[in-house]
Amino acid sequence: MKSGPSYPAEHISYQLRIRIHQDIRIVAGALGCCNFTAGDYVYTGSARRNLAARIRRHLSDSKKLRWHIDYLLIHPAVEITHVKTSAIPECRWNQQLSGEIPIPGFGASDCRRHCGAHLKKAPR
Ligand SMILES: [Zn+2]
Repeated sequence: MKSGPSYPAEHISYQLRIRIHQDIRIVAGALGCCNFTAGDYVYTGSARRNLAARIRRHLSDSKKLRWHIDYLLIHPAVEITHVKTSAIPECRWNQQLSGEIPIPGFGASDCRRHCGAHLKKAPR
């Protein structure tokens, strides 16, 4: 298997910078219908084991849809423009990020720290 970029071993969290090129509506699994306006968004997640594999999965279009973010990323008007990784725990990193929450609960099914959502719309 071809190896992609590797990340420092202490990095457990990632942020995907996402560009949505036009206003869209998706159905994100159990969350239901979600409307997004065009613009840039940041999704914060974590993978304590194999961060590189998780990021490769997000960048791939052929996968079984599982997380809310999967339903967004497979939309043809949506692309990941940048990936960052960090040793900062995901919820703290997410909370440090400014930006509004477009869809309450999005990406936060496993969140225990009251983030509200793990997807934020980036300020212009
Ligand atoms: Zn959180």
